[in-house]
Amino acid sequence: MKQMEEMILAEGQVLPGDILKVGSFLNQNIDTTLLHQTGDEIARLYEGCGVSKVLTIEASGIAIAAAAGMTMGVPVLFAKKHRTSNVDGDVYAAKVHSFTHGVDYNIVVSSDYLLPTDRVLIVDDFLANGHALRGLMDLCEQAHCEMVGVAIAIEKCFTGAGDELRAQGVRIESMAMIESMSAHEIVFRS
Ligand code: 5GP
Repeated sequence: MKQMEEMILAEGQVLPGDILKVGSFLNQNIDTTLLHQTGDEIARLYEGCGVSKVLTIEASGIAIAAAAGMTMGVPVLFAKKHRTSNVDGDVYAAKVHSFTHGVDYNIVVSSDYLLPTDRVLIVDDFLANGHALRGLMDLCEQAHCEMVGVAIAIEKCFTGAGDELRAQGVRIESMAMIESMSAHEIVFRS
């Protein structure tokens, strides 16, 4: 998606540790025009796929998931992050390793909200090593719902995680696909 790539080139900052800082338009201060365009593009890509629910993780996935869910006219469900493993009640839970904080945490959704009849589109802001995505896919498996596909704002292709999942048959649509990045240059997959 051209607008996402242009915004990354204009405002993204590559930090040590292969972190792309996008706080000025996506992760803290949200550019609502770009958000709207992202929601529309995700809805266009998954049109006709019978998506009944958008699933994401708090916090940074929520805005993008909400934009997509609003255009598609479906509910948006976000998994909550729990630091401890003391998760009780009727929930589905999965362990995820945090790319940005380097710790493990649990992601949890209530089993009341993720149903076996759901056709789920997973949405997140970044795809790096794929831990968050695999955790969300795990929740879908536990709920016995159908995972239709994945939409990501920014994929860091150089980790190989996205392509590995595609090779396993997972449909992943990324608005910007970064092939390589350094403090001086960001190269997108064409
Ligand atoms: P993964 O689980 O795929 O390794 O990482 C995905 C999660 O880590 C995303 O939900 C996102 O919050 C965070 N993340 C991964 N890479 C970056 C990055 O370069 N910049 C920012 N801001 N967040 C990232």
